[in-house]
Amino acid sequence: MNTAPRPLLDRFGRVHTDLRVSLTDRCNLRCTYCMPAEGLNWLPKAEVLSDDEVVRLVRIAVERLGIASVRLTGGEPLLRRGLPELVGRIAALGPEVSLTTNGIGLARTAVALREAGLHRVNVSLDTLRADRYAAITRRDRIADVFAGLAAAQAAGLAPVKVNAVPVRGVNDDEIVPLAEFALAHGYRMRFIESMPLDAQGAWDRSTMVTADEILAVLGRRWELVPVDRHHPLDGVRPGAGGTPPAEEWRIAGTHTVIGVIASVTRPFCGGCDRVRLTADGQLRNCLFATEESDLRALLRGGADDGRIEEAWRATIARKGPGHAINSADFVQPDRPMSAIGG
Ligand code: SAM
Ligand code: SF4
Repeated sequence: MNTAPRPLLDRFGRVHTDLRVSLTDRCNLRCTYCMPAEGLNWLPKAEVLSDDEVVRLVRIAVERLGIASVRLTGGEPLLRRGLPELVGRIAALGPEVSLTTNGIGLARTAVALREAGLHRVNVSLDTLRADRYAAITRRDRIADVFAGLAAAQAAGLAPVKVNAVPVRGVNDDEIVPLAEFALAHGYRMRFIESMPLDAQGAWDRSTMVTADEILAVLGRRWELVPVDRHHPLDGVRPGAGGTPPAEEWRIAGTHTVIGVIASVTRPFCGGCDRVRLTADGQLRNCLFATEESDLRALLRGGADDGRIEEAWRATIARKGPGHAINSADFVQPDRPMSAIGG
């Protein structure tokens, strides 16, 4: 197609440039705030989009809808067979490509992913203590995560970001140690407020550590300066149309930036530029959406690119102004985070 993409606009004027693609709902960990010990009823293979189907949807998103960045996630995206090849095919379409992973297996694949065209990686790590890691994730794999982080950095997947979800009474005493660890290794630390997206429906607001609390703890250790998004050192995402989910602070006198993603207490819906595709080809206009559009049915029913573009635009046109986590009528979506793609 030779024409320029037409922006993917919603009725509030938000331009959508960022696509999150879940490549699998499966995972090799069982983080307590994400899924139960026994795992979930994984999608049958036939329901999961093939590589060709994922690539076709990303191509439509880039060529027709102006998507500029693609984040691959899951479940655990490193479990997807042939991931470097898929990354290569997506990167060849032109968007910035990043990956959110638990880091297990990254030590083996970081170089291949970088060579395939992956730009950046976010690695989830909620604690530095092996015993605690095993309790949170229900797997004794922290050494693999440390190795994955080091390999990602050595491979040039910069900046390597470390994501942690602090939970009261579980790991909230490690906010400063995690940030110090990131600082010492040249990673970027990001803390995420826990959200009501666990498969068990057991989220409890009282165990969520809020952005204010996180910043208070960090502020006692360092002097924090709010980051200016447009400062050359702070790296604005190419094509970024909305508000980045992480509010960022620089440690005074350094180049080190710490981010906090406060979806619950400081919602950033007004600047949202994200759209999500699940592993089984359902398009979601919000992490908290309770309805989806079945792009897989269109793909498999022989729809042409124009028809798929239309369905995509219609989904975004229905996007609401924001999530309702803080309202009494909030309804937790049926799909948990691991099946939507965080
Ligand atoms: N498995 C990969 C990982 O853990 O990075 C990618 C998928 S995971 C669902 C993406 C991110 O969502 C992780 O950083 C994880 O910590 C976060 N997450 C999972 N459940 C969450 C919840 N209930 N609230 C906030 N963040 C959550
Ligand atoms: Fe797996 Fe990521 Fe969920 Fe942990 S947060 S169980 S690593 S999908």
